[in-house]
Amino acid sequence: MNSLFIDFRDPLFSIIMFFSIVFVIAFISYWWNRYKHNEDSKYLDKFLRDFNAHPSKEDLRVLISGGELSEKSWLLLAQSYIENGNYEKSIEIYNEMLKLPSRENTTETMFLLGKTYFKAGFLERSKKIFLEILKKKPRTPEALKYLLLVYEYMKDFKSAKDVLEPLGELGIDIRLESAYINAMGLLNRLDISQDVKAHALLKMYEEQQQLFYLTYEYLFRINPSFAWNNFDASRSEQLADLLWGLEAKELDLDIISQNGFLREMYSARGDISLASSSDIFEFDVLIGLAGKANATLSFEYICTNCKQLYPFVFTRCSSCHGLDTSRLEWSLIKNSSKDFSEDNNSFQ
Ligand SMILES: [Zn+2]
Repeated sequence: MNSLFIDFRDPLFSIIMFFSIVFVIAFISYWWNRYKHNEDSKYLDKFLRDFNAHPSKEDLRVLISGGELSEKSWLLLAQSYIENGNYEKSIEIYNEMLKLPSRENTTETMFLLGKTYFKAGFLERSKKIFLEILKKKPRTPEALKYLLLVYEYMKDFKSAKDVLEPLGELGIDIRLESAYINAMGLLNRLDISQDVKAHALLKMYEEQQQLFYLTYEYLFRINPSFAWNNFDASRSEQLADLLWGLEAKELDLDIISQNGFLREMYSARGDISLASSSDIFEFDVLIGLAGKANATLSFEYICTNCKQLYPFVFTRCSSCHGLDTSRLEWSLIKNSSKDFSEDNNSFQ
């Protein structure tokens, strides 16, 4: 019976004790490491959460009023929020900065706040800010320009005209802005017919020679024959997208046959066969294909001022706010509408 128990002086007992102690230490060490790893992960998660989270309005109020960072640093932070599309945070920063008793750049901060309100689409608030700046400093061209934009976006063209006057007094060329505001004011009137608008718009264009695309886009949309009769065909290239999109019944073949560009363009489209080639690559390819391939033209619009590319035509660039800076670019693409109509026909 005694042989079942090991004496504590027995070397085997020492070995068993040794391995038991090693096992206990390894077991405790494993669980301790696991516990520490979990704790570290939780801490790291919390740290990353805090790092990625935007400061709350209250955090910003405390931080900005604490004065630990310079106003310039806050302005830079607000700008980085704008660049990331977070207008709300930048507006909170500007508003808190304007509450500081020892604020240094009040007008600049107000201007940036007005601009951000405008970008974020808060037009009424933006208007109030710019009017407040101009009350204190009436000769601030940048504030006047933004106020003009705000009124234009609000379709308050009468107030926009009032802004043009002080801008002109500051020596800024307002002819194009003035023509645009007058044209938009006319087109947005509800008390006159489209025909009256078309005649008035053409008269404005003939007097000022401004806003060619805007004028003829309206005329061709409302009354193509009136547009053709008053059209300067030498400028056809500037209107190529619009002319390319006209329906066959809207074409004036007498005018088209007398202009080289129009002859080549409508030969490329397949309406007529008055050109056998063209210096314009895309037209030349389409004339050569003679409708045998499924190809058409696609148009894009680039702002000559800021180089922003748009898939649609614009008169006022929404990026740099330049007027009449759109330049037409075209390329050959597969004609998916032809595919669609052919698919439809196949079911008939
Ligand atoms: Zn632009």
